[in-house]
Amino acid sequence: MSLEVFVLGTSGMQPLPNRFLTSAMVRRKGELLLFDCGEGTQVSLKMLNLHWKRINRIFISHMHADHVTGLPGLLMLSSQVDRTEPLYIYGPEKLRDYIDANRRLLDMYINYEIIFVPVQPGIILETEEYTVEALPLLHTKPCMGYILTEKDRPGEFSVENANALGVPCGPLWGRLQKGEDVTLEDGRTVSPSQVLGPRRKGVRFSYITDTMYLSHIAKHVQGSDLLLCEGMFERALEADAFEKKHMTSTQAAIVARDAGVKKLGLIHYSPRYTDRELHTLKEEACEVFPETVLCKDRYVFNLNNAG
Ligand SMILES: [Zn+2]
Ligand SMILES: [Zn+2]
Repeated sequence: MSLEVFVLGTSGMQPLPNRFLTSAMVRRKGELLLFDCGEGTQVSLKMLNLHWKRINRIFISHMHADHVTGLPGLLMLSSQVDRTEPLYIYGPEKLRDYIDANRRLLDMYINYEIIFVPVQPGIILETEEYTVEALPLLHTKPCMGYILTEKDRPGEFSVENANALGVPCGPLWGRLQKGEDVTLEDGRTVSPSQVLGPRRKGVRFSYITDTMYLSHIAKHVQGSDLLLCEGMFERALEADAFEKKHMTSTQAAIVARDAGVKKLGLIHYSPRYTDRELHTLKEEACEVFPETVLCKDRYVFNLNNAG
């Protein structure tokens, strides 16, 4: 199974000609989950040819313009297709007013149900296959990071072993896959461990922006396959970052290192940097955590677990 992460934008505060505002889309088994939605998000979605009019869930970190101003257009245009499934939107309480006001003032025609879920710290969503946790951050406004964790799955079923043990193809296979012992016609018992490989670990994806550096972020994003984390400034501007409640790329790398993540993707760059200057952010981060990617708009990560 794989989970894809599409980086839709990497700029902070202001969209630039070649750098849209920070946003990411997760595609998982046909489900689309969007994280933040600034100006320009729609353009990247279109360029990537994602079926963005059918987004299932939107998670908003906080109520700063660079993270929400793309939302009205996206909600409106999503009505161009027939959809029966609702759209779930998660975020701070103020986001409800923002959506309602936009719908009213723009006389928006919306042909599907929007279900707003105010976010509290902790698990905010649990499906059969994954959870999403909201992690409070420390910014100039209430802000949440999000951590998507797939549940572990049973090991791969070995048809060879099942045949060798004389388990007939059919419902008994299904029961073994669910973890149940089964009794064969001849009275022998076969247990799941005889036909299943080791359990397959789920993938973890973490999205952290905007915040000052907090040492406890690492605990929550522990072991992420991918941590997308703001690295807005270079090391020399650490005092500025602290004052504005943002992080340097070095601090993002410290989180990644302490959390033992597989990969760090930097996002939410200050518009003060040209594309060429961004390499300083990457170099500084790599000194602390070598598996750092300087994300560019429309960069795609394919996260596969071992299974
Ligand atoms: Zn921002
Ligand atoms: Zn902000």
